[in-house]
Amino acid sequence: MGNGTTAKGRKSGTTAKGKKRPEGRRNLSTLREAAGLPEGYRVTRYQPGEGCDRMWVEKVGEPDRACPRCGAKGHPNGHYRRRVWHVPFRGGAQLCLLLDQARLRCPVCGRCWSDGHEGLVSEISRHMTGAVVEGIKLDLMARRSVKGCSQTWGPSRHLVNKVVEAAFVDWQYMPATLCIDELKADTDAGKMAIGIYDGDAGNIIELLPDMRRQTVDWFFDGFSAEERARVRYFCCDMSAEMIAVQRRWFPHAKLCLDRFHVTKLANEALRDVRRRVEADEAVPAELRRELKGSWKLLAMGREKLRAADDRYAMDMAEKRARLQLALDLADKELDSFPGMRVHESGASRLGRLLSLSDELRVAHALCHDLNAIQRAGSSGWWDGMPKELERWRSFCRQSGVPEMARLQRTVRRNEEGILNSYRYGKTNAVAEGINNSIKLTKRKGYGIRRFEAFRRRVLLALGLGRVEVLRLSIRDVSGEV
Ligand SMILES: [Zn+2]
Repeated sequence: MGNGTTAKGRKSGTTAKGKKRPEGRRNLSTLREAAGLPEGYRVTRYQPGEGCDRMWVEKVGEPDRACPRCGAKGHPNGHYRRRVWHVPFRGGAQLCLLLDQARLRCPVCGRCWSDGHEGLVSEISRHMTGAVVEGIKLDLMARRSVKGCSQTWGPSRHLVNKVVEAAFVDWQYMPATLCIDELKADTDAGKMAIGIYDGDAGNIIELLPDMRRQTVDWFFDGFSAEERARVRYFCCDMSAEMIAVQRRWFPHAKLCLDRFHVTKLANEALRDVRRRVEADEAVPAELRRELKGSWKLLAMGREKLRAADDRYAMDMAEKRARLQLALDLADKELDSFPGMRVHESGASRLGRLLSLSDELRVAHALCHDLNAIQRAGSSGWWDGMPKELERWRSFCRQSGVPEMARLQRTVRRNEEGILNSYRYGKTNAVAEGINNSIKLTKRKGYGIRRFEAFRRRVLLALGLGRVEVLRLSIRDVSGEV
């Protein structure tokens, strides 16, 4: 079945002596070049197949016969064919080499061994060529799944995992801007992991299995005091553990607390006030229910709300006018058509809901005041910011809303770090972006169970190893040419 090429090649090689033989040879040697096999190897047979081509390959010349144990000259002791995956050269189809493997036996010490193929077969596994390993590595860096790599290149998932394990990912260093953040890992080491990132270059430096003090200390202890002194900005969120890490290991770096975390806390405070009003028996049940579904409305700034209202009003007016023109209806009749009734505007609904409770109204105003201060600071450092924040805090203190008073205390405790974030323009955005990429990597393989495998995959795809390996391979290529 399907060995037309081979049969012809063999026939021309063996039967006609003068003219046909070189032609057959040339076909097979062109194949060797096309498949990118190194010199010193010879293709003896080729069989294209559905999805997978097979190529019989053997070494030219005598194998090295010195015994690896005693150095005596070994005797040939049979042959076998080993399957070695190589880079596909015919669009889409995998390429499997059937490599002739000479067995040798030492007559002195009795040792048996196989002749090696150093230039062709990779160090990771004898069933993959070095070129295939490189291809798989680049695919993994592009966040392809292990299964996907296996399907494209041919090697089993076990072999692809060997590439992951052998890949170089340990390239830890201390950046000028160090970001640290929690991320969801869902591995055997626990639900959450800790990422350490380079906030300037935008790559991940290390992934730690948990936030325990000994884990974090073990990592930072691996760097000398000079290396750690290189860190000038330490970005994290407001959690006490993270801030403690800065105090312990980077006392001279500027602590920058993530501003989005402040916004999140403010939204949570507003949510708590709203829940309190919802539970208040004095408020009519219908309005309480309406309040429950209105968190989005409360979180939206007044400007955004006005813009959304305007858009809606314009859309509706146009729709109604069109229908009215077509059917000649009165305004009242128009209301009975589906989707034609004009709803209450967001601004009016908000006003109605806020009038339910003074506390809610005050909390809403204070939250959006804080948002406005943060927005003003996000386009560049602004000297008035500490004063504005101080003013906002005194309003919170006087408001009599316990949630806002608590928020104000949190902000005061972390004020220096929050202001630093604006002063030096540092956020945890890099960490958030990478965490999002990690989520994608994870989802491609439906999760990764072992923490070490997870860590290696992430560092391979998003760490500095990626940059370095790419640079090295470019240099190798240009050096060869
Ligand atoms: Zn020997």
